Amino acid sequence: MISDNHMHTRFSGDSDADPADMISAARKKGLTGLTFTDHLDWDYAAEPGLFDLDIPAYLSYMENLQNVITSDGFSLRIGIELGLQPHLAKRHAALLSEHSFDFVIGSIHQVGGADPYYDEFFEGRSFRAVYDIFLEETLANITAFSDIDTLGHLDYICRYGQRVAKTRGEDGTFSYDNHAALIDEILSFLINHDIALEVNTGAYRYGYDEPNPSFAILSRYHALGGRLLTLGADAHSPSDVAAAFDLVIPRLIAVGFSSYFVFEKRNPVEIPFGK
Ligand SMILES: [Zn+2]
Ligand SMILES: [Zn+2]
Repeated sequence: MISDNHMHTRFSGDSDADPADMISAARKKGLTGLTFTDHLDWDYAAEPGLFDLDIPAYLSYMENLQNVITSDGFSLRIGIELGLQPHLAKRHAALLSEHSFDFVIGSIHQVGGADPYYDEFFEGRSFRAVYDIFLEETLANITAFSDIDTLGHLDYICRYGQRVAKTRGEDGTFSYDNHAALIDEILSFLINHDIALEVNTGAYRYGYDEPNPSFAILSRYHALGGRLLTLGADAHSPSDVAAAFDLVIPRLIAVGFSSYFVFEKRNPVEIPFGK
């Protein structure tokens, strides 16, 4: 029973995928369900308004689709990927009290009001310093607002770091060991607050052979007692649905995980690997 639980559709500012096409792709790949998690990034400085989400329109469209789809046992869940920033905590709390979702991913897409996607973020800073700033911002965000079900793509900044490192001819590797104390603090916070850790396979389509976070961090999470994993490919088009799941799941099992979780009405439902 494999489900992809992080994907975007035309309701997101960076995707033009038709939700029905994402469902067809998931069915073709043998999935038994999926969770839509369209973007909502308030106060997105680089392009204001790009990642605003029309929530009533999104929910009513997806709920209609849910009524059409689920007759044959395919599970369709409606989630959201919130772009966290510490000053948005109250707005996010109000949003979640007003609207109900199956699943809430909390992601850090902006650090101090800037998107690390852009090369400028790295200017005048060592890679190690940038990664520390990103991790500190992550901790500040989950401390300010912990009503999320999973922490999205922890360490994904290394994708951008490695891209910049290539242009500089430097080593931009993000290693657990260089940031162990901060990463442990984040992982412990998640474990203590029953927040899951997302395994995001999106990096594979950019040529990496690790998910975000890396297997080193996933191993550490397991060693600290973490068992709540969620799984998503962060697809923005149908061809990327469940990408690299076949590569990643055996390695998660090798680390010691025996299951992952999907969320329905914000409650975790355990799905053993291999069933
Ligand atoms: Zn994201
Ligand atoms: Zn995403």
